[in-house]
Amino acid sequence: MIRPQRYFPWKIARQFFFGHLIFVIVTLILTGFSLRYYVFTTFLNTKDIHGALARFDNYLTSLFLTVMIGSAVYLAFSARYYARPLGRLIQRARELRRMDARIDENSMDPDELSEEPGEWYDLERALNRIHKDLRTKTEDLSREREELSALIGAVSDAILAVDRNGEPLFFNSQFALLFRVAKGGAKALSLSETFRVPEILQGYREVLSTGQMRIVTTAIHTAHHALPRHFAISIAPLRTSENEPVYGALGIFHDVTELKQSEQIRIEFVGNASHELRTPLTSIKGYVETLKDDFKTGRTDGAGQFLDIISRNVDRLIFLVNDLLDLSTLESGAELTKSVVSTAEITEGALKQLETKRAAKKQDIQVRYDADSLHADPRRVEQVLVNLVHNAIKYIPEGRRIDIIWEHARHATVLRIQDNGPGIPLEHQARLFERFYRVDVGRSREQGGTGLGLSIVKHIMLKHGGSVRLQSRPGEGSEFICTFPE
Ligand code: ADP
Repeated sequence: MIRPQRYFPWKIARQFFFGHLIFVIVTLILTGFSLRYYVFTTFLNTKDIHGALARFDNYLTSLFLTVMIGSAVYLAFSARYYARPLGRLIQRARELRRMDARIDENSMDPDELSEEPGEWYDLERALNRIHKDLRTKTEDLSREREELSALIGAVSDAILAVDRNGEPLFFNSQFALLFRVAKGGAKALSLSETFRVPEILQGYREVLSTGQMRIVTTAIHTAHHALPRHFAISIAPLRTSENEPVYGALGIFHDVTELKQSEQIRIEFVGNASHELRTPLTSIKGYVETLKDDFKTGRTDGAGQFLDIISRNVDRLIFLVNDLLDLSTLESGAELTKSVVSTAEITEGALKQLETKRAAKKQDIQVRYDADSLHADPRRVEQVLVNLVHNAIKYIPEGRRIDIIWEHARHATVLRIQDNGPGIPLEHQARLFERFYRVDVGRSREQGGTGLGLSIVKHIMLKHGGSVRLQSRPGEGSEFICTFPE
């Protein structure tokens, strides 16, 4: 610990010393002269008055010198005695101003001051206390500032605080990153230069003028995304204390794009599902009404055909509800029951389910087993096979060929389902695995499709930590490639 250099108030000590010394000298001179005058007038008629005066002068001079030297020594000591604590106080006040963190703690020891006069001691002790309190407060403040800046930096939302003129007070690194604002170095742009979105400028302006918190939702172009992102911006007023006027406004930019998208997906899903359910239900209702009318009038000729249609629509409803339930189970996070399963066993099980459909379209299914087994949920893998092979059977013409290949790849088992059907146009490929997405809606419905088969396949593959992708060119057939990680 460095002990600061002691400060001694020479000026005040000099003033004290010379001021008193002059006083002593003047007193001595006046006393000398008055004594001399008294001696002279009293002994005026004495014979040797001049000799007596000369002796008296000698005596006075030596007395004068002795008293002066004695007083000077005494004054020097007392000047030091009184000026020293003042020097220490001045020194302490200077330290206070500098908030010098290197001050020797011992220099504040009140014991050191015990020999000083009471009031000086009290004053210095009070100053020491102020110093100590101030230092604790400064340390607390700087710690709080560090914690706050760490917090602001760690928040994933962008933060921007501006003053009353819209000039930035501070912003976090996330804000700098999102809106490409230079941090430090170059002067940061003002609010209106950073944003051209009227809602944001209006929001900040209102908070600055009313002092009330506001939430603004708007789309903003960011530095990292091609499309604008949706933000919910909470803007709060900044005040030094509760009743003080607003000196700025702080906005937290919370990215709600994903939330909005999932909300959109949910709305679309409910719309699509309702539509899919309504179509067969409307058809069933229509034919039941017709049947009721026919029975009233005694007509029975069309009943068999109508009942067939009703039965087909009921089947469609059952498929749809089953597929919806399957999707919801997969999405709700239900665990897989994985084991080492034989590829041949699973494939044969799936093909047995589809045999009537395959035979009806006179298609040829060839299977190649380059991989004998895999670690997966057998029920779900069979579902993948059924959905993909069934699609191939449905969408390729009669008499064509379907190939099922099980093979090993790097750290994975791969299942390929190839057909030489019509293929899938490129513009549909990106959205093909979305729920209810179909290339040809009419054709899919006619085949009893729900539009959920590929979506279920995608979810099953994702649950296995794998993936499914499509390779297809119109007119050249399609290949669905499922990768199960080992
Ligand atoms: P769907 O119940 O309609 O079959 P899917 O999700 O299983 O629903 O398939 C989505 C769409 O992808 C189908 O409607 C169909 O248009 C197309 N599709 C799927 N497999 C094939 C294939 N092998 N060949 C041609 N088109 C296919």
